[in-house]
Amino acid sequence: MTRDEHRPCERYCKTCKEWKHYSRFKVKTAGNDTVSRFHPICRDCEQKERNERKNANRPLAIIEQRAASAAHKAATSKEFFMVQMNYRSLVPVLSALMDDGLCQGCGHSFLHERDIQIEHLEPPRHAQDWARLHARNIRLFCASCNRTKSDKPFQQWLDEQEGARLSNLQHQNLEHEFDGTLLEGMFETKAWIAVTDAT
Ligand SMILES: [Zn+2]
Ligand SMILES: [Zn+2]
Repeated sequence: MTRDEHRPCERYCKTCKEWKHYSRFKVKTAGNDTVSRFHPICRDCEQKERNERKNANRPLAIIEQRAASAAHKAATSKEFFMVQMNYRSLVPVLSALMDDGLCQGCGHSFLHERDIQIEHLEPPRHAQDWARLHARNIRLFCASCNRTKSDKPFQQWLDEQEGARLSNLQHQNLEHEFDGTLLEGMFETKAWIAVTDAT
């Protein structure tokens, strides 16, 4: 395509390779030159590039946000959390989880970005419990796991989750074994399951 095929009010964008009205381009003034020229890239493409840059740094931006909020609670700096508490190491982990990750607690997909939450395995005992605020004590869990774990000791939560897994497994086996609709009421009573367990 040549310039002749386009109206004088149009400019060419080298990124999307489209001719667009000049108002879609920013004006730049080179040096002392009073002659205004247009950016070689249209506003739409500039916006798109800005968004892409932002998304590329999204995991870092999120971890920095969380570091800042943790730092606020502990009356220290964001940098202290990024470096001394090793929050930096969470960036590639978060990045991988944002890309079709599964929760290590429950195995489900994360619903959205904010569903990936920082969980302290051993709950911090006070505001400046550096031993437990360190990234080595952190797992990125979904909001639902975060709720069940809450501030329980890690070992207690592990045992509870294992109990829940076995109970679910038992329900599934029973549903396979019998007609589920007939026996539905029985699944509510743990005592009945305990009896079958003993057999
Ligand atoms: Zn463009
Ligand atoms: Zn989960």
